[in-house]
Amino acid sequence: MNYKNFPMVSKIIFGRGSFNQLDELISPKRQGRNAPFIFFVDDVFKGNHWLTSRIRLSYKDKIIYIPTDEEPKTSQIDQLTEDIILEYSEQPSGIIGIGGGIVLDVAKAVALMLTNEGESKDYQGWDLIKNPAVYHVGVPTISGTGAEVSRTTILTGPDKKLGINSDYTPFDQVILDPELTKDVPNDQWFYTGMDCFVHCIESLTGTYLNAFSQSYGEKALQLCKEVFLGDHLSKEASQEKLMMASWHGGMSIAYSQVGIAHAMSYGLSYLLGIKHGIGNCIVFDHLDEYYPDGVDLFKQMKANHSIELPQDVCADLEDYQFDIMINVALSLEPLWENALGKNWKQVMTPEKIKALYQKM
Ligand code: NAD
Ligand code: ZN
Repeated sequence: MNYKNFPMVSKIIFGRGSFNQLDELISPKRQGRNAPFIFFVDDVFKGNHWLTSRIRLSYKDKIIYIPTDEEPKTSQIDQLTEDIILEYSEQPSGIIGIGGGIVLDVAKAVALMLTNEGESKDYQGWDLIKNPAVYHVGVPTISGTGAEVSRTTILTGPDKKLGINSDYTPFDQVILDPELTKDVPNDQWFYTGMDCFVHCIESLTGTYLNAFSQSYGEKALQLCKEVFLGDHLSKEASQEKLMMASWHGGMSIAYSQVGIAHAMSYGLSYLLGIKHGIGNCIVFDHLDEYYPDGVDLFKQMKANHSIELPQDVCADLEDYQFDIMINVALSLEPLWENALGKNWKQVMTPEKIKALYQKM
């Protein structure tokens, strides 16, 4: 057995208002006047003085607002990287991502591509990155994806949706300030929070499970239950617990894998542009055959928070479109093996996946 040796986020600060310390945290990393800090900020915060007034710009530092109607594309990452290379004479001192999973992934990917030649699509996969990234910092403003802790940045390329998984991908610094999540709309809070819940279920029921993953997964699941099924939590406690659930959920899958909901949600995302959180929910709702206890809990959570999921998203699709989704889903072999074991191909046939998609 050859065990994997994983890097982790090197520094982490946790607490309500800890975002106030951003400047103090990154200042020691400044490489000089011509080496700026670039702040990628979720465009939901444009004009939001409460947040942006705490980003102190010096010398050539810059804020770039990132739209979130679409998940990150390799072409977008290449463009952002190219713009920075053309605009500045020196490599940036640091890249700081402030936002949801999309913005965190953009920050990670650009930090990697600034020091690695060529196009980001060529690095989609495992351990293809050769050089360490530029110093990069993650500040999540919505909880659930685990992108703040993971060693991947998920990108849609010309022919696949796949992460850049590497030892250089994890953030050098993460700021966990639960107060930053206070204005997340209810539906989105649920969808992104369920990403964490699904990470827990897929990890804990998977064949790759081990004591490392289990310890994090169980904690994250317990926190999710408190947040989504409990009714005595203050708003503050709920924000704090979900932020830690996201962290633990991410740690849990670091040493195992996700499963069927993620594989099929990637198909929906690739073909229809359905975003990760809501896509997972649409799929997971129909996976009772594979995750009976998890789906049961999910339905209770959905009812508790009066969430109505979109129906019939695949109703008008043609056969060739189903084939595209099925191919994307089936190409994610480790996810299926984790969910169903070594002989998964005998259990999950293209016909079976199609029948599931047809229900959605
Ligand atoms: P997201 O980044 O699209 O954010 C969801 C929405 O919430 C956006 O409209 C955003 O503007 C808004 N938002 C964020 N913070 C807010 C706040 N404080 N107040 C109000 N609105 C706020 O969605 P997400 O679910 O966080 O992330 C999904 C993305 O993360 C996908 O691209 C997915 O591929 C990626 N992902 C990455 C990993 C990883 O390990 N790298 C893991 C899971 C998902
Ligand atoms: Zn996920």
